[in-house]
Amino acid sequence: MAVLVYAETQGNKVKKAALECVFYGKKVADAEGAECIALVLGSANGVEELGNYGADRVIQISDASLDQFDSMVHTSVIGQVVDATSAQTVILAHSSTGKSLLGRLSAKLSAGSVSGVIDVPSYENGFTVKKSVFSGKAIAEFKVKTDKRVLTLSGNSFKPEEIGTRVDVEHMDVTIPTSSVKVIEVKREEGTVPLPEAELVVSAGRGMKGPENWGIIEELANELGATTACSRPVADIGWRPHHEHVGQTGVAIKPNLYIAAGISGAIQHLAGVNNSKVIVVINKDSEAPFFKAADYGVLGDLFEVVPKLTEAVKKFKAGL
Ligand SMILES: Cc1cc2nc3c(=O)[nH]c(=O)nc-3n(C[C@H](O)[C@H](O)[C@H](O)COP(=O)(O)OP(=O)(O)OC[C@H]3O[C@@H](n4cnc5c(N)ncnc54)[C@H](O)[C@@H]3O)c2cc1C
Repeated sequence: MAVLVYAETQGNKVKKAALECVFYGKKVADAEGAECIALVLGSANGVEELGNYGADRVIQISDASLDQFDSMVHTSVIGQVVDATSAQTVILAHSSTGKSLLGRLSAKLSAGSVSGVIDVPSYENGFTVKKSVFSGKAIAEFKVKTDKRVLTLSGNSFKPEEIGTRVDVEHMDVTIPTSSVKVIEVKREEGTVPLPEAELVVSAGRGMKGPENWGIIEELANELGATTACSRPVADIGWRPHHEHVGQTGVAIKPNLYIAAGISGAIQHLAGVNNSKVIVVINKDSEAPFFKAADYGVLGDLFEVVPKLTEAVKKFKAGL
C-alpha cells in the first residue's frame, strides 16, 4: 500500500507546494499504514530532499520531455506509477497543474476525487476528508467510496517540517506518450513568490487613485518580503497586471498575513482572501465591509498609514 504524492517542480527545483504535499502525504500514509512515495517528473535537481519532509521513497522520471507540463502526458505517467506502486491515495497540489490533473487522473484510475482538502482524512466511517466551501465560510466533509482516491491539497494548509531524512532517488521505466502540444515560449513573473504560495501579501484597490501611487505598496511589500496583489477593477483598468488580481474571479490565496489598503471588501474580493490567517484592513471609510472580515482594522487615509507602517517595519527590522 502506498500514498503517491506528485511533487511539482519549477525551474529545476521542487516547489514549496511539493514540500507541503509530501509533508501532508506522510501524515496520510501513517494514517493508512502505507508508505509515502514522492514522484518527480522531469529533470529537477535536489529532489532527494523530499525525504526530509516525509517521503519514504522518491521516484524521479527524469526524462527532459517531462520538464514541460502536459496534462495528458503527465496523467499517463502518474497513472503508470500508481499501478506500479499499488498506490491507493494520490495527492496533488491545489494548483493550476494539480487541478488539471485531478479530473483526468480520477477518470483514468476510476478513483473518487476531492479538490482543495484542508485536513488529514478520517477512516472511522469509510474515507472522509474536509475541504472549505462557500469562500471559507463553512467546512464540508466529503466521503470517498472508491478503492482509490485523488486529492488536491489546499495551499498553506500545512507548514512543511523536516520530519525525515534524505533518501536515494529511484528511477522507474515508464512509457512516455508523445505530447500533442508544442510549447513555443514560457514567460514567468520573476522575483517574488507567486501569489498562491505567498505567506505575506500586500494588496491595494481603487482607493489608490492611480497606478502612479503604487510605490508605497511596493515599498511596504519589499520591506516585509511580501507579494503584491490587487482588487479586480484595478487590474481591469490596467493599473496592475492581471496575475495580481485576487478574488472570486482571480487568484484564491491563503497567506499568513493579508494587508489590504483602499479595498472596500466586496463579497467577490473576500471570496479569494477569506482564508488568510490574519487580515489587516486600511480604509478611510468606517462603513467599509472589509472591516467585518478583518482581524485588525486601521481607520485612516492609506497615503498616511501605509508609509508609517513601512517605517515601523524598517525600525523593527533594524531592532530600533
Ligand atoms: C461576477 C463578479 C466577479 C467579481 N470578482 C472580483 C474578484 O475576483 N476580485 C475583486 O477584487 N473584485 C471582484 N469583483 C468586483 C467587486 O464586486 C468590487 O467591485 C471590487 O472588489 C471593488 O474593488 P475596490 O475595493 O478596489 O474598489 P472600491 O469598491 O471602489 O473601493 C475602494 C475603497 O477604497 C477606500 N478608500 C478610498 N480612498 C482611500 C484612502 N485615501 N485611504 C483609505 N481608503 C480609501 C474606499 O473607502 C473604498 O472602501 C467582481 C464583481 C463581479 C460582479
